Amino acid sequence: MQVYLDNAATTKMSRAAIDAMIPYLDSVYANPSALHSMGQRAKEALEEARASVAACLGARSDEIYFTSGGSEADNQAILSAAMIGARKGKKHIVTTAFEHHAVLHTLAKLEKQGFTVTYLDVGRKGNITAQQVADAITEETCLVTTMFANNEIGSVLPIAEIGAVCRERKVLFHTDAVQAVGHIPVNVGQMNIDMLSLSGHKFHGPKGVGVLYARKGVALSSLIEGGAQERSRRAGTENVAGIAALAAALREATDHLEENADKVKALRDKLICGLSHIPHSVLNGDRQYRLPGNVHFCFEGIEGESLLLLLDEYGIEASSGSACTSGSLDPSHVLLAIGHPHEIAHGSLRLTLSEYTTEEEIDYALDVIPQVVARLRAMSPIWRDKTEGKKAFLL
Ligand SMILES: *Cc1c(COP(=O)(O)O)cnc(C)c1O
Repeated sequence: MQVYLDNAATTKMSRAAIDAMIPYLDSVYANPSALHSMGQRAKEALEEARASVAACLGARSDEIYFTSGGSEADNQAILSAAMIGARKGKKHIVTTAFEHHAVLHTLAKLEKQGFTVTYLDVGRKGNITAQQVADAITEETCLVTTMFANNEIGSVLPIAEIGAVCRERKVLFHTDAVQAVGHIPVNVGQMNIDMLSLSGHKFHGPKGVGVLYARKGVALSSLIEGGAQERSRRAGTENVAGIAALAAALREATDHLEENADKVKALRDKLICGLSHIPHSVLNGDRQYRLPGNVHFCFEGIEGESLLLLLDEYGIEASSGSACTSGSLDPSHVLLAIGHPHEIAHGSLRLTLSEYTTEEEIDYALDVIPQVVARLRAMSPIWRDKTEGKKAFLL
């Protein structure tokens, strides 16, 4: 049986998204900047997609900028806010300790250029409060950037409350909503969001296309110089097919948001409940404020990588956490941020569901995972020491 449980890393494209893409690869392939009629048809598709994405987010069309993905949108949002801040002599940024690397590495670059960054503590349960944000803002703060939902442990942050704090204190607020959009309600107006990043491939659209929403009046600076595309904020011939597909995927996800979330949550809770019976394990992330499709555990006495390889042999595609850290031996910064020692952080397993996940697949995972964990523990000398009382259990 083949069971794909790595939807936080990327998703399968929906039929609607694939169908939306084909005309712009096949018959309407002109450059949308061209003056001939095929070019104008491509341009119309681009503007229809922009209007549709705007409507899904509660934004205006002229606040939507298409990018190459979530990472680029994060970079552009943060660097733009830093430029705006620097012009006013404000060089302090507030963020959290468990952001995606697209945010953390951009902030590290700014720190080298003289900015100071406050990394809010996310505590044991892996979340922050709006009060922490309020307490961190100073006269020097030019930007608050907090993710909407965490890509590893699935915590959903109190974005509307953080947005209200930022609006009251007149500080720009950016959110990396890559894991949230298409999965839980997001409305930039109601939530007082000034800038937002999203990515097509996290909600059944294509890879390599994303969106930066920037509220009217926020002066974006461009990362890529060239032509006048995207109102001179992002040069380069537009990825028309990808953009049309992103818009179709977002429309479909938005139209079925509640029913999909209910279905996915029921399977998620079944999986969490079953895996909780594995001794010396812990569910990570906020129990209550959690993405519908996220399950994340640490199992004591296990190497996450060995677990993934064995699960793959059983046809289960999972992850130890973020796709960006796998391949490196450093433990996840997210798991260290919630207070796990290295030993525990190394034994992580992230299972992320989608509306295509079936109950049969979850039952299969519940059958296989406890067996595989037991098998790995039986081979581990550290585990033997623990069961013989020579070493203490941590969980
Ligand atoms: C996937 C992801 C990104 C990066 O998006 P890309 O489109 O792959 O560049 C950024 N932030 C979060 C939270 C993500 O999950």
